[in-house]
Amino acid sequence: MDYSSIWAEKGVYNWVLANPILYSKPIENVKGKLSFWDYSGIKEVKIECPECGSIEIAVEDYTTAPFPTYLHRCNKCDYVIMESEWNVIK
Ligand SMILES: [Zn+2]
Repeated sequence: MDYSSIWAEKGVYNWVLANPILYSKPIENVKGKLSFWDYSGIKEVKIECPECGSIEIAVEDYTTAPFPTYLHRCNKCDYVIMESEWNVIK
């Protein structure tokens, strides 16, 4: 409620997004999909931050051609985790 961002509406609950992604090609043909929904082109995994050891929920993005994107900013220490350090925890 009443988050400090200029985009936050007052007097209601506000969603604060960590690690949002801007797609180079927008996802189309999603008319009628309100609220949150799953998109099959991305996969959520747990990875460990090599800098501080924090366990993070990160997104593997398979919509970026020709290679999928593995990039995540640690929510605890702000370290940017890249593909070479991407250790998925089962
Ligand atoms: Zn970290």
